[in-house]
Amino acid sequence: FNMELQRAEKMEIISELAASVAHEVRNPLQVTRGFLQLLLEKSERKDREYLMLALEELDRASSIITDFLTFAKPELDHVQLLELTEEFRHIEGILIPLANFQGGKMISRIPKNLYIEGNSSKFKQAFINIIKNSIEALDEGGRVQIWAYRLNDEIIVHVQDNGEGMEPAEVARLGEPYFSNKTKGTGLGLMVTFRIIEVMKGKMEFLSEKGVGTEVIIRFPAP
Ligand code: ADP
Ligand code: MG
Repeated sequence: FNMELQRAEKMEIISELAASVAHEVRNPLQVTRGFLQLLLEKSERKDREYLMLALEELDRASSIITDFLTFAKPELDHVQLLELTEEFRHIEGILIPLANFQGGKMISRIPKNLYIEGNSSKFKQAFINIIKNSIEALDEGGRVQIWAYRLNDEIIVHVQDNGEGMEPAEVARLGEPYFSNKTKGTGLGLMVTFRIIEVMKGKMEFLSEKGVGTEVIIRFPAP
């Protein structure tokens, strides 16, 4: 028992450390990106290829941080009652610009006073990953709809898109580390997300049809 406890404490420390490192690394990455971009604009043809590669690799490092730890804060995991409209307000702030950039729409209808128990940073991390995938699956003019309600003893959230959809064989592989169909994907987002939802005692289910779209249903026990 004691060994287990020690192990859990060590894991906790490691994840807090990873979170603070990610947080600190983000800024220098952004600054470096800015300077490389400047150099690229002034560069001669022969240097361009290297600068482009350097930028792509920096973007890859940023994607890994986003998929793992966008909201991670170097503070001990703090479990509290989360009010969904409040959580989703922050999530929209980050993802609406991405949806617009992609030529799609993000529409959410979350009623007030739905509560679940959990860690706010982790909750946001999980939903950023789910909704970002939906946005990335959209064609021009596509849309992502998000709604939530309470049913008996559960709080249920739906994230539905009319994007490219998946074959059953792909749905079966979701959450597998490094499973990605994107040229710039990390294949880490859903692995992290499944883990977070599980820790919050929730369940996540994917319904998808190739060429039609995807619906993700996430259920949490009502506190
Ligand atoms: P990444 O986004 O880096 O590829 P994820 O773990 O977030 O990694 O997702 C894994 C794969 O699952 C994606 O590459 C994509 O093929 C598929 N996927 C996940 N969500 C959706 C969705 N809403 N619509 C279509 N495909 C999806
Ligand atoms: Mg993803």
